[in-house]
This record gives sequence, C-alpha cells and structure tokens, in this order.
Amino acid sequence: MKNAGVYIHLPYCARRCVYCDFTVSVLKQEEELSWYLKALHREILFYAQSYPDKIVDTIFFGGGTPSLFSARQISGLVTAFCKHFKTTPSLEISLEANPCSVTLAKLKGLKEGGVNRVSFGMQTFHPKLLEILQRSHSQGQALMAYHLAREAGFQNINLDFIFGIPRQSLPELQEDIQRAVSLGPEHISTYHLSVPQNNPLHPLLPLEEVSADMYEWVMDFLPSCGYTHYEVSAFSKPSFQCAHNLKYWKLHDYLGFGVGASSYITTPQMPWGHHFKNTDSLQVYWKKTHEEGHAKGQEEVLTKEQAQKEYLLTHLRLIEGVSLEEYEERFGSSLMKSYGSIVDKLLTWDLLDSVKKMLKLTPRGILYLNKVLVEFM
Ligand code: SF4
Repeated sequence: MKNAGVYIHLPYCARRCVYCDFTVSVLKQEEELSWYLKALHREILFYAQSYPDKIVDTIFFGGGTPSLFSARQISGLVTAFCKHFKTTPSLEISLEANPCSVTLAKLKGLKEGGVNRVSFGMQTFHPKLLEILQRSHSQGQALMAYHLAREAGFQNINLDFIFGIPRQSLPELQEDIQRAVSLGPEHISTYHLSVPQNNPLHPLLPLEEVSADMYEWVMDFLPSCGYTHYEVSAFSKPSFQCAHNLKYWKLHDYLGFGVGASSYITTPQMPWGHHFKNTDSLQVYWKKTHEEGHAKGQEEVLTKEQAQKEYLLTHLRLIEGVSLEEYEERFGSSLMKSYGSIVDKLLTWDLLDSVKKMLKLTPRGILYLNKVLVEFM
C-alpha cells in the first residue's frame, strides 16, 4: 500500500478526567509543549527517510488535548509533514479539541494552517453528567465551541458523545443527541463508557440492559435524521465518513507519531504488515527520539494468519461488514475456509449476517460486539 494515514499523539491535558485511559500527561508548564514538538519533528524526519515512498492522505491530531497547542504550533507540524512526506491534494487533516480550549482566533488559525476537520469531545450537555465525568468544560462552552468552529469556516465537524454514564437516564441521552442533531454537525460519534474495575466510576455504571437500550435508540434515531451508521460508534452525513479512522477499520497503513502512538505499515519485505508502538513514557520518548530519531518500543512483523485475523476483526466494526471477495483478493484464500465454523456458529446465534457476499454484524451483534470478537480470537 502506497497511501498512509498519520496519527500524531499530543498527550497533554489541563487535568485528567476520571474515566480516561489514554496516554495523557497533565500540563504543568507551557515549555513542555515546545519541548514535545522538538521530539515530534525529529520523528517526522526519521520516518520520512524510512518510508520515502509512502503518500500521506490523512493526518489526525489526537490526544490528550491537541487544542492546548497553539494554531502556530499545529500549523508548524502540518508544514513539516507536507515538506518531508509526499501528500495527496485532498489531505484530510483532523484535530481533536476540548470545547474549553478554543477561541475564534485559534480556530481561524487552525483552519488557515490546514486543519479541515475538527472533532469536539462534547460527551454530554448535562452539567450533572459533565461533573461526574470530571470534564473541564461546561454546557455553554460546548455550544459556543461549535458555533465558533462554524464561524471560523469549518465545514466538517464531529461531535463525540458518551452513553452509559453513571446516573444518566435514557431521556437525558436522547436530549443530548437531539440537541447535537439540531446543531447539524457532519459527523457524530457515540461511545459506550467503559472503565476498569478499579476505577471509582465502575460500581456506579448502569446495567448492561440500560446501556443497550440507549445504544439501540441512538442506532434508530441518528439514521432517521440523515446520519448513516457506518461503524459501530460512528454516524455521518453522506461523504463525511472519517477517512483517517477508516484506515484502522480497513487495515490500511498508518504511521503513529508521539508518545504511545501505534503504527501499521506494509512494505515489499513485510507484505502482511508490521506493527510497532512508541514507548508510553514521556521521558523515554524524549531520550530515544533525541538519540535515535524514533521511540519504537514493541515491534511485531505479522504473519499472513495474523494479518487475516486482524483484517477480519477490524472490518467487522464496519456496518457494511467484510467483503468475502475483497478478503480473498487481499489474502489469496477464502475467509470461510479459515473461519467457516465460527462464522456458522455466529450466524446461528443471530450475531452475524451474510448478505450478498458480505459478512456483517446483525443489530444484536453490534450490541454484543465483544462476544463476536472473542469467538475469533
Ligand atoms: S480530555 Fe480526553 S484525553 Fe484528556 S483526560 Fe479527559 S478524557 Fe483523557
């Protein structure tokens, strides 16, 4: 594969939300941001030299809170990627933003610097629930951020929501999503809150059936408002699917930059792909990029069998499912030959469906995705 997506992890947040399990560091002093950028620039040079033939067609700034960085700092990164890598003219450049860390000037600066898709972590509009999640923004800031992004000229906006929050009722979730639709974003993502057993929110989580009712309602409501359900958690207006995230779900090449970032790259020497992940430690990240130009920790070259399994597991997240023909084209062997008995079992359990040479989750399979995935592992 010649084309590749780029993910840049910007790990700083003003404070840590109680449910967060990302690689995050609470920002103590502004200088840390420029310190981190220097390390990123070294990594950009290293990978541009390592993969001179790759053509970057998506860039995604994730976090953390990328919007803590100035528009100039983000533009500097975009410029560095465009200078050192080949890029496509229709480059999708997304940036995750916390509603309380944007201003009109910053959003305009980001737009001028090349960012053409912004994703706000709204989570909920209800003050009581924002407090339970320990989010730092208010309902007013969330609405203001959306309107400022429109005023700055963004024509591709995603809003993230969480359901299954302790003490959240179905009507509260319905109000959140209805309000989101009334704003008219191009993309809406809804994530089920999941935290480990030792998290303080864990004993307060609603019953599985309550979350399932919420999810079912969202899956009915958003398509009725013109948002196509194209991935388990993602809904978009026509032609506004997130091109970057589709790379993960279709097992296409992506390069991860920054602390804790993961990559999947195919080369003529490694046709089934090569996974590598950067260290999770900021100190080690700084030291390694300084000394070696990169901060790879774990590395793994995939066998054909591993790539087949990963292809299947990631594609199943897509509502259209896995194309049996495309699978055979990529791997030169039939999916049913490798996984026929598991597929048959899941068809009988009404978790999978087989339509016109596509294997896809049923509505029940979407609700119980983990049960489906476990069968293939
Ligand atoms: S803003 Fe996002 S990344 Fe930062 S602590 Fe909260 S959940 Fe984690």
